[in-house]
Amino acid sequence: AEELLRRTEKLSVVGELAAGFAHEIRNPLTTLKGFLQLIQLDADEKNMNYVKIMLNEIDRLEMITNEFMVVAKPQAVKYEMEDMEQMIESVTQFLQPQALLNNIEMINLVEGPLEKICCDPHQMRQVFINIYKNAMEAMPSGGMITTNLALNTNYMTISITDQGGGIPAELIPKLGEPFYTLKEKGTGLGLMVSKKIIETHGGELQIESETNVGTTMTIYLPIDSIYKGENKLLERQKEGEIV
Ligand code: ADP
Ligand code: MG
Repeated sequence: AEELLRRTEKLSVVGELAAGFAHEIRNPLTTLKGFLQLIQLDADEKNMNYVKIMLNEIDRLEMITNEFMVVAKPQAVKYEMEDMEQMIESVTQFLQPQALLNNIEMINLVEGPLEKICCDPHQMRQVFINIYKNAMEAMPSGGMITTNLALNTNYMTISITDQGGGIPAELIPKLGEPFYTLKEKGTGLGLMVSKKIIETHGGELQIESETNVGTTMTIYLPIDSIYKGENKLLERQKEGEIV
């Protein structure tokens, strides 16, 4: 429990401090990129190669700072009552071109009538995009991504299942730690950011995986009535307590 507490503290410090730093790092990066692009215009072949490498590295830095900025405090967070089926439809539509390109079929299934969920739509979209991106990256030769939406007594569950290579059981506890990645071009921030967003919404992320079979990421989100009762996010926002 102590270890868990320590890790949680570390994560929230990482989340808040680094989000602030990310903002500060972005502007100089934009300047660097601009001047490199100018140099690129009349560079000789040798220098062109160096500039390309530098631009690639800047892209990577931008990717990392962007992912941090999703949890950045200065961004306006606004809680609204959202139709999650609609949100999933719109996110999967948005990812459709990338899915087609990778031979991936996306299917969304809804069990029974759903209720609206109190959430920040931009943050929640980011969670889905991160999880779908991981699912696609886990299936380089194509497959199916199935999303199930269902309502339980206290929670709505949104589970996203892929047919990728899966995650070895001993690695699952490490997921969500900042910079933990097994990908050459990964940032290791997607799951950390997603978990943090889900937790600020009073929810939880469950990861189930079987090697060579696939992975299911289940998002538990408190339903309206419970959420209003216990967390009062909407009320606290109205009273100006959360901005
Ligand atoms: P990144 O995608 O940049 O590596 P993430 O935080 O999104 O960072 O994911 C961390 C790691 O978790 C990934 O590198 C990958 O090894 C593993 N992972 C996440 N989702 C899946 C999935 N659906 N299937 C297999 N591995 C996954
Ligand atoms: Mg990722």
